[in-house]
Amino acid sequence: MAEATTLHDAFIDELRDTYDAERQLTKALPKLAKAASSPDLRKAFESHLEETKVQIERLESVFQGLDEKVRGKHCDGIAGIIEEGSAILKEDFDDTTMDACLIAAGQRAEHYEIAAYGTLVAWARAMGHDDAAEKLQETLEEEKAADEKLSALAEGGINQGAADTAHPAAGSRNGASKTKNGKAGASRR
Ligand code: ZN
Ligand code: FE
Ligand code: FE
Repeated sequence: MAEATTLHDAFIDELRDTYDAERQLTKALPKLAKAASSPDLRKAFESHLEETKVQIERLESVFQGLDEKVRGKHCDGIAGIIEEGSAILKEDFDDTTMDACLIAAGQRAEHYEIAAYGTLVAWARAMGHDDAAEKLQETLEEEKAADEKLSALAEGGINQGAADTAHPAAGSRNGASKTKNGKAGASRR
């Protein structure tokens, strides 16, 4: 029973790993929120914390739907990501640079979750666990939205603000445009 011999066993194992990851994140997100200077960034972390609590309940209902005990299994991956985020909090950054780095830390966590839930949804579908697949898909969408929200905040002024502090003489990379919102600061697309 303890041996993960089939994909179903691996699926339950991954669910337990993800359940633990979500619980670790409920402890880490308040720290990121507290360290944020941008009110919008703080709100983004706080609202994702509330979402995360619902995701935990959703995973509990997935376990119950599969007649499995609700149980976590230590997630080393997210623990490492959280540990790196904690190291950022100790750095002596100015406010905007700290915000840019908090976003970087948050996005590492979201991408990890997107990978985890992407696999869980695909496996649930492949095995015909449609109810589980639907719930996991719902969470996957929330993780993607959280990631996009962080990108929007970074590209909506925080990155440029931090860059201008790093290179004051260079000014904005967009020439005359020093606008704090809009996509003027975006350089990724
Ligand atoms: Zn199965
Ligand atoms: Fe999550
Ligand atoms: Fe998340």
